[in-house]
Amino acid sequence: MEDRFGHRISYLRVSVTDRCNERCAYCMPQELQEWLPRAEILSYEETLRLIRIAAGLGVTKVRITGGEPLTRRGIVDFIREVPKIPGIRDVGVSTNGTLLAREITPNQTVAAVLQAAGVRSLNISLDTLDQNVYAQITGRDFLPSVLQGIGASVAAGFEQIKLNTVLMRGRNEEQLIPLIDFAASQNLILRFIEMMPVSTTEVLTERNFLPVAEAKCAIEAHFGDLIPEPTFHTNGPATYYQVPGRDQRIGFIGAMTNLHFCESCNKLRLTCDGKLRPCLGSYLEFDIMKPLRAGASDEELRQFFLEVVERKPQQHDFRENYQPNRKMIAIGG
Ligand code: SAM
Ligand code: SF4
Repeated sequence: MEDRFGHRISYLRVSVTDRCNERCAYCMPQELQEWLPRAEILSYEETLRLIRIAAGLGVTKVRITGGEPLTRRGIVDFIREVPKIPGIRDVGVSTNGTLLAREITPNQTVAAVLQAAGVRSLNISLDTLDQNVYAQITGRDFLPSVLQGIGASVAAGFEQIKLNTVLMRGRNEEQLIPLIDFAASQNLILRFIEMMPVSTTEVLTERNFLPVAEAKCAIEAHFGDLIPEPTFHTNGPATYYQVPGRDQRIGFIGAMTNLHFCESCNKLRLTCDGKLRPCLGSYLEFDIMKPLRAGASDEELRQFFLEVVERKPQQHDFRENYQPNRKMIAIGG
């Protein structure tokens, strides 16, 4: 699948739930969250059918996300089916990490089960190592479980684990160096992400925005100049650097300030309520659940995918005074 601007679509991000056990200020609205009714959520069978169709159109990588994907019942059995789909070579999961250390059977953690189910990579959110600040940002005092979850994931032997930190001025700018040191101690890739306007809460103001360039300067003041790694890519829009004097890689995702951010975009998103979104930062979304539930054939659904890709915008609208129509939690980050 290729769009009008030469973006070749090989990556499908699949959100399996809009629910979450945390309440990150930048992701969830402050007002009472109303979850989608179960009937409006794609069943696992429906989701697998859509992934199969996408795979037939050239999608090779799937990332399972949410909300918090690991809160949905039956998630491991679902994930086990994804790598079996012909054409899918890479399955990843994005998680807040809170449930990874939970034991499903004695001595077998969720992390170990996911690894055995064929998940190649994990993205784990970690914005701070300070327990109080963690609780302020996420609305939950779960940092100890997340750290256990990271430990369980390292022990499980995933091919790749990335830690993702959303940059917030006044919240975690003091944490950049401790987070880098922590990632080094666990031998994990750490990425700093610019906050995007996908929430309407008061946290998302110009005052709270911390650009990646500023974070990079602060890191360089501590470690010396970072060494660019232009040839290293992980499937996303991050730019990577080596920390001087260390065998450590860190990345920056400048969704707001990097003007070339969208050039290499290879993604399509499927929301848990069956909408295909050609771009995270655009209002455009197309309801594929409707034809799916009305009995559309595989060929008709294939056409649907192609039409959505045809409408993929050249770049996101975040810099154009974008006002979200859906919160991040309801899209799947
Ligand atoms: N619950 C999982 C988690 O927290 O990793 C998966 C879903 S979450 C929506 C996926 C990623 O989106 C997380 O790394 C989160 O930090 C990021 N995210 C959420 N809201 C964001 C925002 N406003 N700007 C930038 N990243 C955001
Ligand atoms: Fe939940 Fe992840 Fe959103 Fe935080 S970022 S509220 S953990 S979905």
